[in-house]
Amino acid sequence: MVKAVRGMRDILPRDARLWRLAEDTIQKVIASFAYEEIRLPLLEFTELFARGVGEATDIVEKEMYTLADRDGDSLSLRPEGTASCVRALEENGLLYNQSQRVTYAGPMFRYEKPQKGRYRQFYQIGAEAFGFAGPDVDVELIAMGAACWKALGIAEHIALEVNSLGSSQARIAYKEALVAYLTPLKTELDEDSQRRLLTNPMRILDSKNPATQELLQLAPKLPDFVDEESKAHFQQLQATLDAMGISYKVNPNLVRGLDYYTHTVFEWVTQDLGSQGAVCAGGRYDGLVQQLGGRNTPAVGFAIGLDRVVLLCELAQKTVQPAADLYICVLGDELQSKGMILASQLREQMPQTSVRLHMGGGNFKKQLKRADASGATWALLYGEEEAASGELSLKHLRDPSVGQVKLLLGQVAQHIGANS
Ligand code: ATP
Ligand code: MG
Repeated sequence: MVKAVRGMRDILPRDARLWRLAEDTIQKVIASFAYEEIRLPLLEFTELFARGVGEATDIVEKEMYTLADRDGDSLSLRPEGTASCVRALEENGLLYNQSQRVTYAGPMFRYEKPQKGRYRQFYQIGAEAFGFAGPDVDVELIAMGAACWKALGIAEHIALEVNSLGSSQARIAYKEALVAYLTPLKTELDEDSQRRLLTNPMRILDSKNPATQELLQLAPKLPDFVDEESKAHFQQLQATLDAMGISYKVNPNLVRGLDYYTHTVFEWVTQDLGSQGAVCAGGRYDGLVQQLGGRNTPAVGFAIGLDRVVLLCELAQKTVQPAADLYICVLGDELQSKGMILASQLREQMPQTSVRLHMGGGNFKKQLKRADASGATWALLYGEEEAASGELSLKHLRDPSVGQVKLLLGQVAQHIGANS
């Protein structure tokens, strides 16, 4: 057998139930904030990510699945959704003189070392707001995250960290100070950080290496460089979060590596997934639209890592009942096609109820065993006798007090409705 590609997972039916629940729950919350769905391609020109994510990022340096199109163009599987989102809105004239609040969902691809919570194909649900400069929309996005965790029942596993990166001038000044401090200490830095000192120094703050973190203790601090306007933005953000009762920690080492990130950055983190602790990351990227060739447009957004959210839901022991609600047992080969028709009629009468028709014969006893194993709440018995009389036997498989009743087809929906 040919095997799946490393880092590309199958989500099997028993897990897919929880995935569906998580996705639906998050998307409903986002829709309740009136963010509108946008569907984006999986493939883009490599240049979009080089410019939109940044040449000096891990993603573009070493994590992209890049291929040559038949005519020689360099294409890449999308490693994230923000750059495509900006491209799509700009390309379709939806950013000029208007604001937008959009959401996207789907698989992303990064060539990383696969481990629990880290895969080469993983799923994100993102939300982005364009055309709003104030901290109110930053808070709206944070509140949306909080509402998602609450709706999923995993809020107690997740904490919020926020930081402000200041204006782009403030960041340039800080970057220079950081490089000046770290350059004489270069040989003491871990290998990745040594490289980043030249390419993307602020990402060093992110290093998980203890020796590097030690050196950073005495390094210049970003908050000391943040300009007044950005400070006011950050203070208002915190005041609004306080007023809304959303708790957070200010983490001065929380950074996004690129110059077009400004003001607010935030991350939702968990202690329960080892080193894959970030379940959602976001921030303001006022410089990105321009960086990609559009007009100067304030923008802010986040991306939820769905794989990690589902892992947390599993930890919180969320389970979802299997698919079938009603299992039709049908006795005798002659009734198979009538059984099919019966199933269709019931599906039409009760669109919210999943109906599974038994296949493969056997007596009622054997079929009822299957019905039980399917997780269905109800079994409907359909044999010679029922076909002749028009009276069906409907049995509640989980509640003996409801038990088994005989009724006509037209009464099934009502009986199920009244007892569920
Ligand atoms: P990390 O530090 O864990 O690599 P990141 O900074 O690369 O995360 P972002 O690009 O900000 O992640 O993506 C947003 C979210 O997507 C992350 O917080 C995480 O939940 C999820 N994510 C990122 N990469 C992966 C991956 N390879 N597998 C599963 N989830 C991922
Ligand atoms: Mg990463």
